[in-house]
Amino acid sequence: MKQVKTRGMTRVRVPQGRARTTQLSYAKFFFHWQKCRACKIGRIAHRHVLVAGNVPCDVLFLGEAPGKTEDLKGVPFCGRSGEILDYWINQTMKEIPEYPFTHAMTNMIACRPTDELGGPNRVPTQDELDACRPRLDNVLFLCKPQVVVCLGQTAASSCPFESMIQVPHPAYALRKGGKKSDVSERAIKHLTRYLKKHLPKMEDKKCPKYKLVN
Ligand code: SF4
Repeated sequence: MKQVKTRGMTRVRVPQGRARTTQLSYAKFFFHWQKCRACKIGRIAHRHVLVAGNVPCDVLFLGEAPGKTEDLKGVPFCGRSGEILDYWINQTMKEIPEYPFTHAMTNMIACRPTDELGGPNRVPTQDELDACRPRLDNVLFLCKPQVVVCLGQTAASSCPFESMIQVPHPAYALRKGGKKSDVSERAIKHLTRYLKKHLPKMEDKKCPKYKLVN
């Protein structure tokens, strides 16, 4: 898949043959991918964890795979890692109020990688990452983000989007002391710097919802 730049914005170009499953509308996307059983984990997952947040959005946060809580609720980053990520996003927004952004969250794969129902999480296999790639392409098609923030190495090494940065996975920050840890502090600084450079200022936003109110 290629990315093309159009008037300063990075867009994802999908090969024509794959457009049927990578360019579904929002409603069809959920209908189609919730039933997916392309790999074994799709058959033992409680729920498929597809995408949450503002769609479309300015910034898409991309993790590796759903964990236990996400699997039960069907929502990405709704557990303790999600609390850390919400904290990073809120702190970043406070740092750069002149660069407001909407955001959504998803993972490289939509089903919890485990070998048995209720078993421990494992790293996703390359086959699983490949099988779920059309779903990720569909998320990118729907979200049309300006920036993708990869959470951890797995997401960063397979991210198909050109304008992206990597910060640690919030689960790592959780192990290193949580919200007030050095890991969190560095992640917020990195996000602040990168988003300030790559997002338009509030007065440059075209959408009326971003208009300044006196
Ligand atoms: S991980 Fe992706 S490709 Fe595999 S079954 Fe779940 S939705 Fe389908």
